[in-house]
Amino acid sequence: MQLLGTPFDQLAPALSALGVPEVHASKVFRQVHHFRAPLADTPGLGKHLAPILDLAEPTTVDIVESHRSSDGTERLVFGLADGKQVEGVLIPNPIGDRVTLCLSSQVGCAMACAFCATGTLGLARNLSAAEIVGQVYAADARATASGQRLTHLVFMGMGEPLHNYEAVRDALSVLFDSHGRPMDMRRVTVSTVGLLQKIRRFGEDFGGRVQLALSLHAGTDETRARILPIAKTVSMAELRETLLAHPLPGSRHLMIEYVVLPGVNDAPEELDALAAWMDGIDGIVNLIPFNPFAGASFRSPTTEEVVATLHGLRERGVPAKIRWPRGREAHGACGQLMLAKGASGGA
Ligand code: SAH
Repeated sequence: MQLLGTPFDQLAPALSALGVPEVHASKVFRQVHHFRAPLADTPGLGKHLAPILDLAEPTTVDIVESHRSSDGTERLVFGLADGKQVEGVLIPNPIGDRVTLCLSSQVGCAMACAFCATGTLGLARNLSAAEIVGQVYAADARATASGQRLTHLVFMGMGEPLHNYEAVRDALSVLFDSHGRPMDMRRVTVSTVGLLQKIRRFGEDFGGRVQLALSLHAGTDETRARILPIAKTVSMAELRETLLAHPLPGSRHLMIEYVVLPGVNDAPEELDALAAWMDGIDGIVNLIPFNPFAGASFRSPTTEEVVATLHGLRERGVPAKIRWPRGREAHGACGQLMLAKGASGGA
């Protein structure tokens, strides 16, 4: 059992099955997640330490490379036990001492979105919950070493998080647990291409408190299907229905992501359709200028084209903003995470 990815409510019964009293479960959880110190040094376990050490399997998530951009973002390559690698991006934001980690949920991705570098890799395997938590702790240690603290997480690295739902859910349960060093649920964003049943489960499991971002990228099913293979099986009407039922406690809004692909999804009719789709949805459209990568068959929009799309949406009454790219020089911007392949492409 990899303790790094085991939620408290699974750890306690697993330990009691070994004859370890309940009280020790919180000590173990605290050692692993609050102090992030070696299990063998957990105080006060007495004779119970040995069976716990036998049960625990190590998790390997090492930062094996890092590439910094002049805007302060740092692309991290994480090495895993089987030699596979995933990427993450540390994004400092001086306002409010905010540091965001963009992390991965899978090695590669099965969704094959036409404009995404990771999509060209295919899916190698899912990450375990422990490997997801491991990225957070490795990145947090790195931020701490430079006098910062990791405050926000976005599941916008490699992979489709809801395609590896159980591992993502368990990792989040660990990260939110008050026996450890709990993160604020409202500072975590899970971004999905739109797997309907998993969106519903995610809404139920976290009561809508964790930010949901939907990668929409089109106003019509026709355009969406040209760039997102998933759109052939999931319609925008179904997505809309699912989002309308999604719980939004407090001041929560949905985040709707829209990669601006000039000539593909920025025509006036497309924006008309998007505005109709957004009607009644409590969400903000985040426009993401397309980030290029080697072999991509799209071009990046000019600043004017992105701003025109923003105005086009606002004129239609749609709340929208632009997410300007960060980390492009180090191939760490949205959709550029593809490991060695990315390093050879020009940004
Ligand atoms: N699988 C998840 C996370 C993907 S990455 C999802 O689909 O939402 C996070 C965001 O970056 C998504 O909205 C994704 O569509 C977007 N993205 C992918 N490739 C991009 C590129 N080349 N330029 C800009 N954004 C991109």
